[in-house]
Amino acid sequence: MNDRPLVGGIEAGGTKIVCAAGTGPGDLSRAVFPSGSDPDAVLSAVTDWFREEETRRGPLHAIGIGSFGPVDLDPASPTYGFITSTPKTGWRNTDILGTVRRAFPALPVAFDTDVNAAALGEQRWGAAAGLDDFVYITIGTGIGAGVMAGGRLVHGLVHPEMGHIRIPRIPGDAFEGVCPFHGDCWEGLCSGPAMKARTGTPAEEISPDSSAWRFETRYVALALANIVCALSPRRIILGGSVPNGGLLGIERFFGMVRAEVRDVLDGYIVSPALEEGLDGYIVPPSLGADAGVCGALALALDEVEK
Ligand code: ZN
Repeated sequence: MNDRPLVGGIEAGGTKIVCAAGTGPGDLSRAVFPSGSDPDAVLSAVTDWFREEETRRGPLHAIGIGSFGPVDLDPASPTYGFITSTPKTGWRNTDILGTVRRAFPALPVAFDTDVNAAALGEQRWGAAAGLDDFVYITIGTGIGAGVMAGGRLVHGLVHPEMGHIRIPRIPGDAFEGVCPFHGDCWEGLCSGPAMKARTGTPAEEISPDSSAWRFETRYVALALANIVCALSPRRIILGGSVPNGGLLGIERFFGMVRAEVRDVLDGYIVSPALEEGLDGYIVPPSLGADAGVCGALALALDEVEK
Protein backbone atom coordinates (compact mmCIF):
# COMPACT_ATOMS: atom_id res chain seq x y z
CA MET A 1 0.00 0.00 0.00
CA ASN A 2 1.46 3.28 -1.11
CA ASP A 3 0.29 6.10 1.17
CA ARG A 4 2.24 8.90 -0.49
CA PRO A 5 -0.12 11.40 -2.18
CA LEU A 6 -0.75 11.08 -5.89
CA VAL A 7 0.10 14.37 -7.61
CA GLY A 8 0.47 15.75 -11.12
CA GLY A 9 3.43 17.54 -12.69
CA ILE A 10 3.65 19.61 -15.86
CA GLU A 11 6.99 20.56 -17.40
CA ALA A 12 6.09 23.15 -20.03
CA GLY A 13 8.89 23.61 -22.53
CA GLY A 14 9.21 25.55 -25.76
CA THR A 15 9.09 22.39 -27.87
CA LYS A 16 7.17 19.90 -25.70
CA ILE A 17 4.94 19.66 -22.65
CA VAL A 18 5.80 16.70 -20.42
CA CYS A 19 3.07 15.57 -18.00
CA ALA A 20 3.45 13.08 -15.18
CA ALA A 21 1.17 11.64 -12.52
CA GLY A 22 2.62 9.75 -9.59
CA THR A 23 4.28 9.96 -6.19
CA GLY A 24 7.92 10.39 -7.27
CA PRO A 25 10.57 9.40 -9.83
CA GLY A 26 10.11 5.65 -9.26
CA ASP A 27 6.35 5.77 -9.65
CA LEU A 28 5.01 7.90 -12.45
CA SER A 29 3.02 7.64 -15.63
CA ARG A 30 3.71 10.23 -18.26
CA ALA A 31 2.59 11.78 -21.51
CA VAL A 32 4.34 14.15 -23.91
CA PHE A 33 2.60 16.72 -26.12
CA PRO A 34 4.27 18.94 -28.74
CA SER A 35 3.97 22.58 -27.57
CA GLY A 36 2.92 23.72 -31.04
CA SER A 37 1.55 27.21 -31.58
CA ASP A 38 -1.97 26.76 -30.12
CA PRO A 39 -1.72 26.82 -26.29
CA ASP A 40 -5.49 26.39 -25.82
CA ALA A 41 -5.49 23.12 -27.78
CA VAL A 42 -2.42 21.62 -26.12
CA LEU A 43 -3.45 22.66 -22.59
CA SER A 44 -6.85 21.12 -23.23
CA ALA A 45 -5.12 17.85 -24.20
CA VAL A 46 -2.97 18.12 -21.04
CA THR A 47 -5.93 18.58 -18.68
CA ASP A 48 -7.82 15.75 -20.46
CA TRP A 49 -4.84 13.46 -19.84
CA PHE A 50 -4.84 14.26 -16.11
CA ARG A 51 -8.58 13.49 -15.94
CA GLU A 52 -7.90 10.12 -17.57
CA GLU A 53 -5.12 9.48 -15.03
CA GLU A 54 -7.54 10.27 -12.20
CA THR A 55 -9.97 7.71 -13.64
CA ARG A 56 -7.14 5.18 -13.85
CA ARG A 57 -5.18 5.86 -10.64
CA GLY A 58 -7.44 7.86 -8.34
CA PRO A 59 -7.77 11.52 -7.41
CA LEU A 60 -4.82 13.89 -7.64
CA HIS A 61 -4.00 15.96 -4.53
CA ALA A 62 -2.21 18.82 -6.29
CA ILE A 63 -0.60 19.80 -9.59
CA GLY A 64 2.77 21.50 -10.05
CA ILE A 65 3.77 23.46 -13.14
CA GLY A 66 7.36 24.26 -14.12
CA SER A 67 7.21 26.48 -17.18
CA PHE A 68 9.50 28.01 -19.78
CA GLY A 69 9.36 31.75 -19.69
CA PRO A 70 9.63 34.50 -19.06
CA VAL A 71 6.77 33.91 -16.62
CA ASP A 72 4.96 36.11 -14.08
CA LEU A 73 5.58 34.69 -10.58
CA ASP A 74 4.12 37.59 -8.58
CA PRO A 75 0.90 36.37 -6.89
CA ALA A 76 -0.29 40.00 -6.61
CA SER A 77 0.02 40.61 -10.34
CA PRO A 78 -3.02 40.44 -12.66
CA THR A 79 -0.95 38.28 -15.00
CA TYR A 80 0.32 35.89 -12.26
CA GLY A 81 0.85 32.46 -13.80
CA PHE A 82 1.17 33.78 -17.36
CA ILE A 83 3.92 33.07 -19.84
CA THR A 84 4.63 36.71 -20.72
CA SER A 85 7.04 38.00 -23.37
CA THR A 86 8.23 34.77 -24.94
CA PRO A 87 9.24 34.95 -28.60
CA LYS A 88 7.61 31.50 -29.07
CA THR A 89 4.80 31.89 -31.58
CA GLY A 90 1.32 31.74 -30.06
CA TRP A 91 2.48 31.39 -26.44
CA ARG A 92 2.92 35.06 -25.57
CA ASN A 93 0.50 36.14 -22.77
CA THR A 94 -0.71 32.58 -22.13
CA ASP A 95 -2.50 32.04 -18.81
CA ILE A 96 -1.08 28.59 -18.17
CA LEU A 97 -1.73 28.54 -14.40
CA GLY A 98 -5.30 29.85 -14.77
CA THR A 99 -6.12 27.29 -17.45
CA VAL A 100 -5.06 24.41 -15.22
CA ARG A 101 -6.82 25.91 -12.17
CA ARG A 102 -10.08 26.28 -14.09
CA ALA A 103 -9.86 22.65 -15.20
CA PHE A 104 -9.21 21.44 -11.60
CA PRO A 105 -10.87 24.05 -9.37
CA ALA A 106 -10.69 21.89 -6.24
CA LEU A 107 -6.92 21.31 -6.46
CA PRO A 108 -4.00 23.43 -5.28
CA VAL A 109 -1.81 24.26 -8.30
CA ALA A 110 1.81 25.39 -7.83
CA PHE A 111 3.66 27.42 -10.43
CA ASP A 112 7.35 28.20 -10.97
CA THR A 113 9.98 28.39 -13.68
CA ASP A 114 11.09 25.16 -15.39
CA VAL A 115 14.59 25.56 -13.98
CA ASN A 116 13.42 26.27 -10.41
CA ALA A 117 11.27 23.13 -10.65
CA ALA A 118 14.26 21.12 -11.88
CA ALA A 119 16.34 22.49 -9.00
CA LEU A 120 13.67 21.38 -6.53
CA GLY A 121 13.52 17.91 -8.13
CA GLU A 122 17.29 17.53 -7.85
CA GLN A 123 17.14 18.61 -4.20
CA ARG A 124 14.37 16.14 -3.36
CA TRP A 125 15.60 13.11 -5.30
CA GLY A 126 18.91 13.89 -7.01
CA ALA A 127 22.28 15.61 -7.09
CA ALA A 128 21.39 18.34 -4.58
CA ALA A 129 19.99 16.07 -1.86
CA GLY A 130 20.60 17.62 1.55
CA LEU A 131 21.68 21.00 0.14
CA ASP A 132 19.93 24.31 0.80
CA ASP A 133 22.23 26.48 -1.34
CA PHE A 134 22.87 25.39 -4.91
CA VAL A 135 22.25 26.29 -8.54
CA TYR A 136 20.72 24.17 -11.30
CA ILE A 137 21.68 25.27 -14.82
CA THR A 138 20.45 23.97 -18.15
CA ILE A 139 22.30 24.58 -21.41
CA GLY A 140 20.27 23.56 -24.46
CA THR A 141 18.01 25.55 -26.75
CA GLY A 142 18.58 28.36 -24.26
CA ILE A 143 20.39 28.76 -20.95
CA GLY A 144 18.49 29.06 -17.68
CA ALA A 145 19.22 28.67 -14.00
CA GLY A 146 17.19 27.78 -10.94
CA VAL A 147 18.61 29.03 -7.67
CA MET A 148 17.98 27.72 -4.16
CA ALA A 149 19.30 29.92 -1.37
CA GLY A 150 18.74 29.19 2.30
CA GLY A 151 16.34 26.37 1.35
CA ARG A 152 14.08 28.61 -0.75
CA LEU A 153 13.81 28.91 -4.52
CA VAL A 154 14.83 32.43 -5.52
CA HIS A 155 12.25 34.55 -7.37
CA GLY A 156 13.16 38.12 -6.52
CA LEU A 157 11.80 40.94 -8.66
CA VAL A 158 10.82 38.71 -11.59
CA HIS A 159 13.02 35.62 -11.59
CA PRO A 160 16.71 35.14 -12.30
CA GLU A 161 17.63 35.18 -16.01
CA MET A 162 21.15 33.93 -15.58
CA GLY A 163 21.39 32.80 -19.20
CA HIS A 164 21.64 36.47 -20.17
CA ILE A 165 24.53 37.54 -17.94
CA ARG A 166 27.44 39.12 -19.77
CA ILE A 167 30.80 37.42 -19.75
CA PRO A 168 34.17 38.66 -21.00
CA ARG A 169 35.06 37.72 -24.57
CA ILE A 170 37.96 35.42 -25.22
CA PRO A 171 40.57 37.45 -27.10
CA GLY A 172 40.49 36.61 -30.81
CA ASP A 173 36.95 35.19 -30.76
CA ALA A 174 34.99 37.05 -33.45
CA PHE A 175 31.71 35.07 -33.08
CA GLU A 176 28.95 37.63 -32.62
CA GLY A 177 26.53 35.42 -30.65
CA VAL A 178 22.88 34.57 -31.31
CA CYS A 179 20.81 36.22 -28.54
CA PRO A 180 18.22 38.44 -30.27
CA PHE A 181 18.43 40.86 -27.34
CA HIS A 182 22.15 40.93 -26.46
CA GLY A 183 24.12 39.10 -29.13
CA ASP A 184 27.00 37.74 -27.08
CA CYS A 185 25.46 37.20 -23.62
CA TRP A 186 26.06 33.72 -22.10
CA GLU A 187 23.11 32.18 -23.95
CA GLY A 188 24.15 34.00 -27.12
CA LEU A 189 27.60 32.44 -26.93
CA CYS A 190 26.98 28.99 -25.42
CA SER A 191 23.46 27.64 -26.13
CA GLY A 192 22.97 24.78 -28.57
CA PRO A 193 21.87 27.20 -31.33
CA ALA A 194 24.99 29.30 -30.61
CA MET A 195 27.24 26.27 -31.11
CA LYS A 196 25.46 25.50 -34.36
CA ALA A 197 25.79 29.11 -35.55
CA ARG A 198 29.49 29.12 -34.66
CA THR A 199 30.35 25.90 -36.50
CA GLY A 200 27.52 25.27 -38.99
CA THR A 201 27.07 21.89 -37.27
CA PRO A 202 24.62 20.79 -34.55
CA ALA A 203 26.39 20.66 -31.15
CA GLU A 204 26.08 16.88 -30.89
CA GLU A 205 27.94 16.43 -34.23
CA ILE A 206 30.83 18.87 -33.64
CA SER A 207 34.25 17.20 -33.76
CA PRO A 208 35.91 16.70 -30.35
CA ASP A 209 38.96 18.49 -31.80
CA SER A 210 36.99 21.60 -32.79
CA SER A 211 37.96 24.88 -31.14
CA ALA A 212 34.20 25.32 -30.53
CA TRP A 213 34.44 23.04 -27.48
CA ARG A 214 37.35 25.08 -26.08
CA PHE A 215 35.35 28.28 -26.50
CA GLU A 216 32.24 26.60 -25.05
CA THR A 217 33.90 25.22 -21.94
CA ARG A 218 35.90 28.41 -21.30
CA TYR A 219 32.81 30.63 -21.59
CA VAL A 220 30.77 28.25 -19.41
CA ALA A 221 33.58 28.35 -16.84
CA LEU A 222 33.66 32.17 -16.89
CA ALA A 223 29.89 32.19 -16.24
CA LEU A 224 30.16 29.57 -13.47
CA ALA A 225 32.96 31.55 -11.82
CA ASN A 226 30.66 34.60 -11.80
CA ILE A 227 27.93 32.49 -10.20
CA VAL A 228 30.35 31.13 -7.59
CA CYS A 229 31.43 34.67 -6.74
CA ALA A 230 27.86 36.07 -6.71
CA LEU A 231 25.95 33.32 -4.87
CA SER A 232 28.51 31.03 -3.22
CA PRO A 233 26.49 27.88 -4.03
CA ARG A 234 27.46 24.61 -2.35
CA ARG A 235 27.08 22.77 -5.65
CA ILE A 236 26.40 23.55 -9.33
CA ILE A 237 24.32 21.10 -11.35
CA LEU A 238 24.84 21.44 -15.10
CA GLY A 239 22.06 19.88 -17.18
CA GLY A 240 20.64 20.16 -20.68
CA SER A 241 21.79 18.71 -23.98
CA VAL A 242 25.04 20.65 -24.52
CA PRO A 243 26.85 19.44 -21.34
CA ASN A 244 26.33 15.88 -22.60
CA GLY A 245 29.27 16.87 -24.82
CA GLY A 246 28.16 15.23 -28.08
CA LEU A 247 31.14 13.52 -29.72
CA LEU A 248 33.39 15.02 -27.02
CA GLY A 249 31.55 13.04 -24.34
CA ILE A 250 30.14 14.12 -21.00
CA GLU A 251 33.27 13.19 -18.99
CA ARG A 252 35.57 15.32 -21.15
CA PHE A 253 33.09 18.20 -21.21
CA PHE A 254 32.84 18.32 -17.41
CA GLY A 255 36.60 17.77 -17.08
CA MET A 256 37.33 20.76 -19.32
CA VAL A 257 34.78 22.97 -17.54
CA ARG A 258 36.18 22.10 -14.10
CA ALA A 259 39.76 22.78 -15.22
CA GLU A 260 38.70 26.13 -16.69
CA VAL A 261 36.76 27.09 -13.53
CA ARG A 262 39.87 26.35 -11.47
CA ASP A 263 41.92 28.49 -13.86
CA VAL A 264 39.43 31.40 -13.87
CA LEU A 265 39.04 31.52 -10.07
CA ASP A 266 42.81 31.18 -9.74
CA GLY A 267 42.77 30.13 -6.10
CA TYR A 268 41.04 33.27 -4.84
CA ILE A 269 38.08 31.52 -3.17
CA VAL A 270 39.42 29.14 -0.54
CA SER A 271 37.31 26.00 -0.18
CA PRO A 272 38.08 22.31 -0.52
CA ALA A 273 34.94 22.11 -2.76
CA LEU A 274 36.74 24.20 -5.37
CA GLU A 275 40.02 22.26 -5.08
CA GLU A 276 40.10 18.50 -4.46
CA GLY A 277 36.29 18.46 -4.31
CA LEU A 278 35.71 20.04 -7.73
CA ASP A 279 34.56 16.75 -9.33
CA GLY A 280 31.68 16.70 -6.84
CA TYR A 281 31.04 20.45 -7.06
CA ILE A 282 30.20 20.82 -10.77
CA VAL A 283 28.07 17.78 -11.60
CA PRO A 284 25.42 16.53 -14.06
CA PRO A 285 21.83 16.16 -12.81
CA SER A 286 21.08 12.78 -11.19
CA LEU A 287 17.56 12.81 -12.63
CA GLY A 288 18.88 13.54 -16.13
CA ALA A 289 16.16 14.64 -18.54
CA ASP A 290 13.52 13.87 -15.87
CA ALA A 291 14.69 16.68 -13.56
CA GLY A 292 12.06 19.12 -14.85
CA VAL A 293 8.98 16.93 -14.68
CA CYS A 294 10.04 15.39 -11.34
CA GLY A 295 10.56 18.94 -10.09
CA ALA A 296 6.99 19.78 -11.11
CA LEU A 297 5.85 16.79 -9.02
CA ALA A 298 7.94 18.12 -6.12
CA LEU A 299 6.24 21.53 -6.45
CA ALA A 300 2.89 19.73 -6.17
CA LEU A 301 4.02 17.64 -3.16
CA ASP A 302 5.13 20.86 -1.39
CA GLU A 303 1.64 22.24 -2.08
CA VAL A 304 0.05 19.14 -0.46
CA GLU A 305 2.30 19.54 2.60
CA LYS A 306 1.16 23.15 3.00
ZN1 ZN B 1 20.74 37.50 -24.00
